[in-house]
Amino acid sequence: MNYHCFTPFEGDVCPVCGSARVREIREDDECLVLEGDAVQTGILEDVLKQEQIPCFRQSQTGAAMAMFTGRQLERFNVLVPYSRYEEAKEIAAGLLAPVEPTEDGVLFEDEDYEGEREEEDDED
Ligand SMILES: [Zn+2]
Repeated sequence: MNYHCFTPFEGDVCPVCGSARVREIREDDECLVLEGDAVQTGILEDVLKQEQIPCFRQSQTGAAMAMFTGRQLERFNVLVPYSRYEEAKEIAAGLLAPVEPTEDGVLFEDEDYEGEREEEDDED
């Protein structure tokens, strides 16, 4: 496995930037698990800490830029050591999976809606 641009990959060329100046990855190399907004990356960071996975969150824009764009537009990278990368990736995928609506009435806003289950076909 090789390493460049905070990304582990197979092969001699970095898939992110196309550079061939790659090197073999080490267990403690920082790998990018997720890039996202403050909310997404903040949640992931919290869960990784609960799971005792060392991680840190890095602002893409930098503090000076954030003063102009506002913190809600700030983008963050969440990085973990390569030794915990696969684990962290799975956690991130689970967190960001589509969530079912939990409130009643989200799917059927019409209160009179009673479904259309009368037409059951009982043909054997
Ligand atoms: Zn690269």
